[in-house]
Amino acid sequence: MAAPLFLEPRLEPPLAELLAAPDLLHGLVDALGSPLNVLLPDAIAANVAAFRAVYRRHHLDGPIYFAHKANRSSALVRRLAATEAGIDVASLGELSHALGAGFAPDRVLATGPKDADFLWLAARAGATVHVDAPAELVELAGLVRAHGLPRVRVLLRLSAFESAGVRLLTRRSRFGVPVADLGALLDLVEQHRDAVELLGVAYHLDTTGIAEKALALESCVLAMDEAGRRGFRPRVIDIGGGFGTSYLADGEQWARYTTELTNAVLGRRPPLTWRGHGYGLRNEGGTARGRLTLYPAHRPVAGPDYLAELLATRAPTLERTLADVLLDHLYELAMEPGRALVDQCGLSLARVVDVRPTDDGAHLVRLGMNAGDVSLEEHGVLADPLIVPRAGPPPTADGAPDGERDGEPVGVYLVGNLCLEADLVTRRLVFLPRLPARGELLAFANTAGYCMDFHAHHAQRQPSARKVAVGRRDGAWWWSLDEQYWPTTHTSGEA
Ligand SMILES: *Cc1c(COP(=O)(O)O)cnc(C)c1O
Repeated sequence: MAAPLFLEPRLEPPLAELLAAPDLLHGLVDALGSPLNVLLPDAIAANVAAFRAVYRRHHLDGPIYFAHKANRSSALVRRLAATEAGIDVASLGELSHALGAGFAPDRVLATGPKDADFLWLAARAGATVHVDAPAELVELAGLVRAHGLPRVRVLLRLSAFESAGVRLLTRRSRFGVPVADLGALLDLVEQHRDAVELLGVAYHLDTTGIAEKALALESCVLAMDEAGRRGFRPRVIDIGGGFGTSYLADGEQWARYTTELTNAVLGRRPPLTWRGHGYGLRNEGGTARGRLTLYPAHRPVAGPDYLAELLATRAPTLERTLADVLLDHLYELAMEPGRALVDQCGLSLARVVDVRPTDDGAHLVRLGMNAGDVSLEEHGVLADPLIVPRAGPPPTADGAPDGERDGEPVGVYLVGNLCLEADLVTRRLVFLPRLPARGELLAFANTAGYCMDFHAHHAQRQPSARKVAVGRRDGAWWWSLDEQYWPTTHTSGEA
């Protein structure tokens, strides 16, 4: 076998400690089945605190809304309700869930595509509405009047930011109103001011590029100034999500992996993927073309550090850092992190059902889960799973031979439980430190952001993963079904 190319996941406490508790993990899967999602609700509270610390360092204030769409868990949302954070809901179901978890409406921001029912409940409850388009503003105002609802606070979602001199343009989005149409949008707000109150402006850019975000943020400041000149008193700029997560422990492993992936696409080394899949790259006459469609799995700056970097960036034309610009204007900074707020908040477990060799020296490891249960492929997240050994004597008979328990590194393809050629949990050849044995578990770390349940389905009546919340108290682990978790039992009531 070619030299292994490991992609070791970045693990911090308490996730690292959880992975060091194999008996607990096996006991949970024995009781609740495979696949199983395990959540660490206290970790989301720690992440809120880390973002808040960046605000404090810059003397800034404003709400941190968790983008609920990253995970459907009740435990995470209820634990979050016990902190100071707000929540960004993108459907009627998420809005109801948040209200039922204890979020007072003034901590709720309704975003995303909305229908009349979603708008009505948001307005009736008194949530803030993140307005996506002029027609939505008009519909909202109409509902407010027709149903005699209180005035709704709105943030205007802007897009298509352009810099004056330098040629920089933020990426196209199907959401939001082009900033060039701000004047007309403010006319509309003015026309409907009996029904809506302008709280501020917003953007959400699906990019990791700091320059694009700096341009968007400065453009929002200018839009707020414009609204101020028009007699509005807006005070909030919402910079959306996209702070990101670093999934890998080692940047060199990532660099080596992507180099070797390119070599594999060019046929210069043995394949690294199922049937030569190129993750966006292709071989055109000996040259690699295309662009890697993978999440940048190792990010030197992500999450709260990314926020700090953005705030320390100079505004493109205003000649001060973005933090100073916000502070000078006394604007509040709102944001909607999804992935970054659930960083290190959970893992997905699957039982090894079968292990068999292939004729090219790799192995197929069949798992009690499918690609929908841990949508690493869908989100382009590459990180190695960890083997969770079972206590007691090493497995023999059905499993790996005795000797292989501390055997050699192997390359395996992880195949799922669907009767479908394409059901690979990842199309990547995964290198493991040894061959796992039937009955052992593979743990996919840090899956709480989108990977856990965004694409889970019931095809073939395969079970979709249950969720459990776990945590540590007085040196021992407790666990509870996700839907049974409430902060009463498991926290002392602190923020
Ligand atoms: C998805 C989404 C987010 C969260 O994005 P992350 O990359 O998970 O931080 C925030 N706001 C809006 C409007 C979104 O659509």
